[in-house]
Amino acid sequence: MEGKYANIIIDISHEKVDRPFQYRIPQLLIGKIAVGMEVVIPFGRGNTARNGYVIGITDESSYEEDKLKEVIEIKEDRMNMETDLIRLAAWLKEQYGSTMIAALKTVLPVKQKIRAVEKRSVTLILEEKEAEQKLQFFQKKHQVARARLLEQLIIEKTLPQELVTGKLNVPLKTIQAMEALGVLYVSSENIYRNPVKCQSTAEQKKDLSEEQKTIIQDILSDAAQQKLGNYLIHGITGSGKTEVYMELIAGIISQGKQAIVLIPEIALTYQTLLRFYRRFGDKVSVMNSRLSQGERFDQFERARKGAIDIMIGPRSALFTPFQRLGLIIMDEEQEGSYKSETMPRYHAREVAMKIAAMHKAGVVFGSATPSLEVYHMAKSGRCKLYELTKRLTGGTLPMVYTIDLREELKQGNRSIFSRKLQELMQDRLEKKQQIMLFLNRRGYAGFISCRSCGHVMKCPHCDVALSEHKGGRLICHYCGYEEPMVHKCPVCGSPFITGFKAGTQQIVEALYKLYPQAKILRMDADTTKSKDSYDTILSAFSNQEADILVGTQMIVKGHDFPNVTLVGVLAADLSLHANDYRAGERTFQLLTQAVGRAGRGKEAGEAVIQTYQPEHYSVIYAAKQDYKGFYEEEMLYRDMLQYPPVAQMMVVLISSRTEESGMELAKKIIIFLKKSPNMEEEKGKLQIIGPAAATLGKINDIFRTVLYLKHREYEQLINSRSQIEGFVETLELKNESVQFDFNPMNAY
Ligand code: ADP
Ligand code: ZN
Ligand code: ZN
Repeated sequence: MEGKYANIIIDISHEKVDRPFQYRIPQLLIGKIAVGMEVVIPFGRGNTARNGYVIGITDESSYEEDKLKEVIEIKEDRMNMETDLIRLAAWLKEQYGSTMIAALKTVLPVKQKIRAVEKRSVTLILEEKEAEQKLQFFQKKHQVARARLLEQLIIEKTLPQELVTGKLNVPLKTIQAMEALGVLYVSSENIYRNPVKCQSTAEQKKDLSEEQKTIIQDILSDAAQQKLGNYLIHGITGSGKTEVYMELIAGIISQGKQAIVLIPEIALTYQTLLRFYRRFGDKVSVMNSRLSQGERFDQFERARKGAIDIMIGPRSALFTPFQRLGLIIMDEEQEGSYKSETMPRYHAREVAMKIAAMHKAGVVFGSATPSLEVYHMAKSGRCKLYELTKRLTGGTLPMVYTIDLREELKQGNRSIFSRKLQELMQDRLEKKQQIMLFLNRRGYAGFISCRSCGHVMKCPHCDVALSEHKGGRLICHYCGYEEPMVHKCPVCGSPFITGFKAGTQQIVEALYKLYPQAKILRMDADTTKSKDSYDTILSAFSNQEADILVGTQMIVKGHDFPNVTLVGVLAADLSLHANDYRAGERTFQLLTQAVGRAGRGKEAGEAVIQTYQPEHYSVIYAAKQDYKGFYEEEMLYRDMLQYPPVAQMMVVLISSRTEESGMELAKKIIIFLKKSPNMEEEKGKLQIIGPAAATLGKINDIFRTVLYLKHREYEQLINSRSQIEGFVETLELKNESVQFDFNPMNAY
């Protein structure tokens, strides 16, 4: 770019990041200065020479010409990490429509004062033999928490205390009691913050299957020849994907490279982490959303300095500043949480491929139910496809029964549980095997509607249905608005106003009526609000402290429960009623994952899918665990209606103070797009849909209006976006704003 002015930030690792300064580019340097470069500039009153990074170049100055200082020089020798990261931020801004500041904040960790943090760890004192005896003693006495902790200590010797009280769910009192018994001691030290620290114990190597070997040899040979690309490993849970990841990482490290492993936060379990720690010891670091800014910064520093070679974490781990990045692994790539919900609204899949390209690294996607995007890439040759077809943990795919709920009602069964499900639950309870019941919904009784006139109780601020909670309150899940439960329809006065569908809590109550002796755990957004409750519930179930686990989609991921031999999906079609084009895909994924939870151990499993739409292809293919069948059928639909991945889609989201002004702006944008000269040649190819009020038409009294743009070429949509941005800027709006989202995961 030939711009005459450079926007420069002085210290990219401080909060100051949001204060760029503008400088004039001297004649000699015009055309030479690029975004990301480190330059020397005069700063402050004394004009001391300081280093800064160029984050943008423009033709027009936002200040008076004579007030601007001049860039002194380019620091040629410094094409460093920051340069790469700033370029990446610039790409994010361009690709997703964001401010440079928001993009920089996504990419760069912010430095804060590092304070010493106290870490406690728990260490085994006993010799191995004594420990084994003690373990048997605890087990005999049914002191389950003590036994659980000791079992882990025998393997690991030392464990961080927060891991013990958190994921292992052992109370502090128990630790203290065991310390008093002389089993262990608790130590405290100030450490350079490392969120998990375990000693590596050489894990015994597995004999890899032929399928596994082929993948590993193939990819590592590509790596050795510097021609890594994109790869998809399609394999059900338990087919050995993680094992392949670890072999790939070992290979990459021995080639002198480093690796990033993306795992959705919800699947980032203690068991999974431990496998990586056992294999790679303290070369591994972990990030999660619970880390403080300071901890995140420390992790990135360790990566930058080369103290670690592997970073594991959710999507933000992508920005780990490795000097020698060789591989990015993205497990469960279909997960919705890989898409950022805030600006820049990036998808980790696309960013991973961009970062890999910058480093000449490879990307390995893994999934049991790949997203249509990645599978389509594989089909069209932009990504190499591998399949792992066997489950190595033993266990077979479960027998699946699809139950038509309409038929149940006809036969006089008004319960939430079909007769088949009841029969199988009774059987499992008798056999002391575990059951999982899955409901795609949260809250006590879902929404409240009038059986006489159909009126639905909604939040006056957010235009979404209120949910009934215990204690007779109606609550809005977006803004927290509350009102008392109504007993008469406010529209027609009918007394028949009630909850329409059961929530998890109601299911638990119904279960207790049927099986008063059963022990039941519930897991949904309400029971997992506190920091560790998610792990606590899963650990308790895994430790067989309950017979039945009832939950929302949270329970279909992560943990493996070998004793679960029955899975019930209570209302498969609830997720089909979501009003966006991914509803079928999401339903297929959820059902497949849920069904796949049964029969992971020695005993064969069974699954019951209850639905009002047994004829829907998502339900049919999920019951058969047939991904390819589903893919073919779903692609027909995407192709017919020009939805991603066949075409690309962009949401233009307008926020406004009044409904009318939002609509008005939307219409202006449409008129502008239609007569914009660049659009002329694209006529017929660019589709504009809307304007419409968003599904959430109003949040916190701000109105939301949407336009959807579709085009086969992503680049064209980026063009349209910058045109709209330019146009909106000329309007100098005060009460309206416009944001963009590419290929959104949910309807707006
Ligand atoms: P996924 O990531 O696909 O769910 P994992 O890699 O976790 O699969 O493997 C499932 C189980 O099988 C794990 O307990 C793992 O240790 C074991 N496993 C993986 N590969 C092999 C192998 N080649 N031989 C024996 N066991 C294996
Ligand atoms: Zn009514
Ligand atoms: Zn609300």
